[in-house]
Amino acid sequence: MSGPREECGIVGVMGPERAAEWAYLGLYALQHRGQESSGIVSADGARSYAHRGMGLVSDVFDEEILTGLPGAAAIGHNRYSTTGSPTLANAQPILVNYRDGFLAVAHNGNLVNARTLRRRLERKGSIFQSTMDTEVVVHLIAAERDPSRDRAVLETLDQLKGAYSLLILTPDGLYAARDAHGFRPLSLGRRGDAVVVASESCALDLLGAELERELGPGEVLKIQADGSSEVLRASPAEAECLCVFEQIYFARPDSTLFGMGVDVARRRLGRELAREHPADADCVFAVPDSSTSAALGSSEGSGIPFELGLIRNHYVGRTFIQPGQEVRDFRVKVKYNPVSSVIRGKRVVVVDDSIVRGTTSKALVGLVREAGAAEVHLRVASPPLRHPCYYGIDIPNRDELIAANMSVPEIARFVGADSLGYLSFEGLYRAVGSRDQHCDACMSGNYRVPLEPGIEEKTAFETLSLSSAP
Ligand code: SF4
Repeated sequence: MSGPREECGIVGVMGPERAAEWAYLGLYALQHRGQESSGIVSADGARSYAHRGMGLVSDVFDEEILTGLPGAAAIGHNRYSTTGSPTLANAQPILVNYRDGFLAVAHNGNLVNARTLRRRLERKGSIFQSTMDTEVVVHLIAAERDPSRDRAVLETLDQLKGAYSLLILTPDGLYAARDAHGFRPLSLGRRGDAVVVASESCALDLLGAELERELGPGEVLKIQADGSSEVLRASPAEAECLCVFEQIYFARPDSTLFGMGVDVARRRLGRELAREHPADADCVFAVPDSSTSAALGSSEGSGIPFELGLIRNHYVGRTFIQPGQEVRDFRVKVKYNPVSSVIRGKRVVVVDDSIVRGTTSKALVGLVREAGAAEVHLRVASPPLRHPCYYGIDIPNRDELIAANMSVPEIARFVGADSLGYLSFEGLYRAVGSRDQHCDACMSGNYRVPLEPGIEEKTAFETLSLSSAP
């Protein structure tokens, strides 16, 4: 939980009579990937319809709004801003009408060359409506002179660098694409003749669609109205660079990602953690919910009983206001409550997936001690976060990352834990697969997809827009 926050969730549907209703349900399943805004674009032949709003899926849509989104094709998007300000202008999917009809785009990720592409487009006369790098994709497709839409899409994708999973809806069909390195996930499923593409397979489960496969890195798929699909570009043999943090933290444990169940991966992380950092303790519990599978794995690996030591309140909105300072650590207290009957007098192992600034961990350790723990051993199911992410995940700059500025013993002292253990890179990759296939730049500093010169700002693209800098 005290890890970095979510990025975006996308879903595309082709075939059912009311595709927008399917997209709506899919977005519910992907709510954990973004809570800032939500939107759906549907299409009924050559006509398109859109609704976007700020807040959760349940805040943005109702029956009447969904009725106003007819058609057998739809794409949806839940946003957590990694570039661009949190305003309605930056909500997705983006929808434009141009000479070849409508064009709607939903994007998950971050383009590392968006600044260069935008400057080039602006010099040629493009006028941008938002501060999102996604808008670059729309302008590039619209600017293509090739009369074949397939080629226009492929040529646009060739120009994009960085991390993306993209859905592009046009009158010709739905295009689904993953970047050449496959940073962000994208799953393909079917229910009867209907096709569903989604960031995570948990969205397919909710829709009763069977997971057919994950799109490969660099793959571009075109799905037609009748449910048939054509691979416009197969996965090239470029180096895979799957975001390892999807497995550690972002994805839901009931999803299958990069060929592995997320719950399975996280339990393995927990077992490795228990092996690398044993503790003499009476019980182990998670910082819920993202760490629960890792804590179960830690318990399985160590033989120490798993307990529910912290209960999370799921109804705390993102706009929670800290009401004064009388109640210390109120922001953490309102979200987590320790179960004192589990904790009192016990030596406890607390498993978290990651530590960002350390302030939440410090408050949590304080809560667990106040609940009567005799000893608190904090275990982290990932190596220390020491670098920002430029590939679409909201991890702060180095000066805010505690592990970039303190040693592990110093962090243990800062958070008030009796001991602290982070998982090693070796343990991480014993759990989730080969290091060669993954990105771990936020931990190692090894940015395998080169960044634009001068990209030291966390949100490199945002620096372009003076009026909307967050
Ligand atoms: S830097 Fe970290 S969060 Fe960003 S893509 Fe790589 S592994 Fe994922």
